[in-house]
Order: sequence, then C-alpha cells, then structure tokens
Amino acid sequence: MAILIAGGGIGGLTAALALAHQGLEAQVFEQATAFEEIGAGLQISPNSARVLQALGLEKPLRPYVVLPEAAQIRHWRHGKTIAETPLGAAAQAKYGAPYYHIHRADLMRVLAEAAERSPKISLHLGAPVDAISQSPSGVSLSTSHARYEGEALIGADGLYSRVRNHLWGEQAPRFTGNVAWRALVPREKLPADWMARKANVWWGPGKHFVHYDVRGGDLVNCVCVVEKSGWQLESWTHRGEASELAADFAGWHGDIQQLLAAADPDSLFKWALFDRPPMRQWGKGRISLLGDACHPMLPFMAQGSAMAIEDGAVLAKCLVGARDIAAALQRYEAMRKPRTNFVQNLSRRNARVFHLRGVARFMRNQIAPWAGQRAMDRLYAYDAFTPSGD
Ligand SMILES: Cc1cc2nc3c(=O)[nH]c(=O)nc-3n(C[C@H](O)[C@H](O)[C@H](O)COP(=O)(O)OP(=O)(O)OC[C@H]3O[C@@H](n4cnc5c(N)ncnc54)[C@H](O)[C@@H]3O)c2cc1C
Repeated sequence: MAILIAGGGIGGLTAALALAHQGLEAQVFEQATAFEEIGAGLQISPNSARVLQALGLEKPLRPYVVLPEAAQIRHWRHGKTIAETPLGAAAQAKYGAPYYHIHRADLMRVLAEAAERSPKISLHLGAPVDAISQSPSGVSLSTSHARYEGEALIGADGLYSRVRNHLWGEQAPRFTGNVAWRALVPREKLPADWMARKANVWWGPGKHFVHYDVRGGDLVNCVCVVEKSGWQLESWTHRGEASELAADFAGWHGDIQQLLAAADPDSLFKWALFDRPPMRQWGKGRISLLGDACHPMLPFMAQGSAMAIEDGAVLAKCLVGARDIAAALQRYEAMRKPRTNFVQNLSRRNARVFHLRGVARFMRNQIAPWAGQRAMDRLYAYDAFTPSGD
C-alpha cells in the first residue's frame, strides 16, 4: 500500500518524490484542480538545494534559477551596507550545495512534472481530503468522490491543515501584526547598471524590504514587510494598491524608489502574515504532518519552503524498509522537530530584530557583520540524507 499525502504544494510534491526515490509508492491528493503556479520568489538555501539535487532536479531547475553572488543587508535611508555574506561559489564550496533564487511557479512546475513522470507516484487533482481515519493496520481518507487506503497519511496541507485539525482539533493561527507586499519588476525596466545579483535586505524602522532576481534573471522579486494593524486577510491572491505601497516606503533610498516605480502593477499583492507556535507533537500512530501544516513560519529566515523540502527527505529516509510505520513516523518527528522549532523561533526573533528602532537598532547594526553566522552555518550545512540528519 502507498503512503497517502494530503496537499500537493512544495512540501507534498517533494515528499512524494523523495518516497519514490527510496522505492516507495506515494499518492498525492491536492484540492486545487491544477498545481498552484501562483506566488513569487523563493530562496532555496543549500540545505534544501541539496535535497532537490539528490532527487535529480538540478538539470530541470537550471533554466529558472539564479545564483546570487552574496546576501547584503543595507540601511533603509542612506543605503550603506550593514553586512554582507558571500554566496555563489563561496556557498557551494562551504556547504557543498548552491544557493538558488527561483520563482515559486517555476519550482512547482519542475516538481509537478517530475512527479507526473514517476511510475511510483499517483496524483489526484481536484481532490480535497475530507474524512480521515486510521487503524493499527492502515489509514484511509475520503475525497469528494472516492475513498483511498494506505500505509500512512502525511498532512502536507498547509497553514489551515485539515489533517492537523483531525489530529489535534481546530486552532486559529495568530496574526503577527505584519503585512507583506510582493511585486515583480521586469529587469528590462531598470537601468543597465542596476545592482549586481545579490539577495538584498534593507532594514528600516518597523519595516524591511527584500529583493532578488528570479526567472533566470528576467524579473526582480520584491517582498516587503510592514508592521500594520487592522488588515488581516491571509491570501496569496489579494491585489494591493501601488499608492499604499509607495506610501509605506516613502523616504526610503533611491534604489527602492526605482524598484517601486518600475513594478508591474498586476504583480502587486498584499497578504497578512500569520503563524503558529511550535507544536508539542505532530503525529499520532500512522498519521503525521509536514511543512506549513506543522511548522508554519514567518518569512524572516526565508526557510518555509526549505524546511518543507527537508521534511520530505527525512520522512522518506525513515519510512524506507520500516516494519513499524508508527515508530518510523515518530523517528521522523524526533529528527525534524528540534530543527524546525529552532528555525520557527529564529524567524519570530528576526521579526523583531529586522524592524528595530533607536539605540537597539544602532547596536544591532554594529554586531550584524558577524552575528548570526553560526546559525546560518548550522542551517545551510544540514544534510537531510545523512543517517542522523543534523
Ligand atoms: C499559493 C501559495 C503561494 C505561495 N507563495 C509564496 C511565495 O511567493 N513566497 C514564499 O516564500 N512562500 C510562498 N508560499 C509559502 C510557501 O510555498 C510555503 O511556506 C512552503 O512551501 C511550505 O509548503 P507546504 O507544501 O508545506 O504548504 P503549502 O505551500 O501551503 O501547500 C499546501 C497545499 O495543500 C493543499 N491543500 C490544503 N488543504 C487541502 C485538503 N484538505 N486536501 C487537499 N489539498 C489541500 C493546498 O491547496 C496547497 O497546494 C506560498 C504558498 C501558497 C499556498
């Protein structure tokens, strides 16, 4: 019997590919009628690029990815560099895997095409997972038109996970007081000498601005986060007003003004950032969780997708050859939870650090060039395929 996966996002599809890579069968149930090709840029750090490469996706990803030369933090008003970390060849040499920037739609397409090609994976689209049950010998789930049985069920169904609710009851996520904007800027609309390929983060009081190249360098992806109350719509498809975005970043450096002026108005979206605290326990018996379903995180470490990708690799490693499925899922959870708790907590902490004001901001800028390197090394050097995983 196959492993059943609820949710065909980045986490669910990677898990299916990782299971197939280990010779196991997977069935993916996605509520949407097509794999979502919405969203914007994603940072795929070496810890997750290593997994994608091991799954044979380096070549199909190549036309879409950008390899940034460095990550740079700049001052919101005068643009002075606060800290810079080399990436590119340096990241490859240090961590044994590249640092990629990619459009979410491009990554989704590559994952979905690889899953469609795999004889070990069955994909069910337009199949929202509804009723769920388990017994000592297996699991079953129902969609609107059929019932399926399997060895185990993995809830990779995102922030509002149906599987998580089934296991632990419904609990609303928490609004973090931050609203995120995203926009895409065609590179041809920027001056020819527009800054080098870097992951750029601009720190300002109560807000920050991130931009980097995607789609092979044809587009600049912008994500900006602003502390705001009174607007709490969590949707990836809610359009934002250019005038509101411009007002949010009035007085910021000229490079930011140039980006905002060149942004494609049709690519402008706004969503409220929600999160949940780390869970005490993810799974029960033959059912467990993966990705945003068990550790949704703020985008302040750019690790949401990376953690979901790592989860899939570790899950497959634990399930291959397992006689006791419940014990294998417990092992998976024990291997993953300390790391995802660490990243969830770091993302929450960065939500404060990025937006500091006054003296605290001054102190932060002094230590920024060397602070955080150990945490980054711990994050990026992780190899999900080694026996211990950490
Ligand atoms: C549409 C969308 C756009 C995004 N864009 C960005 C972005 O631009 N930048 C960024 O950093 N992060 C983005 N994210 C978040 C990022 O992709 C996730 O944090 C990360 O990849 C974790 O992935 P996941 O697979 O765990 O969850 P998700 O990406 O949320 O995927 C969950 C999947 O489960 C499906 N699902 C939910 N309930 C059910 C059910 N009952 N039955 C069957 N299927 C179900 C959903 O339709 C979805 O496809 C986006 C997420 C989504 C859903």
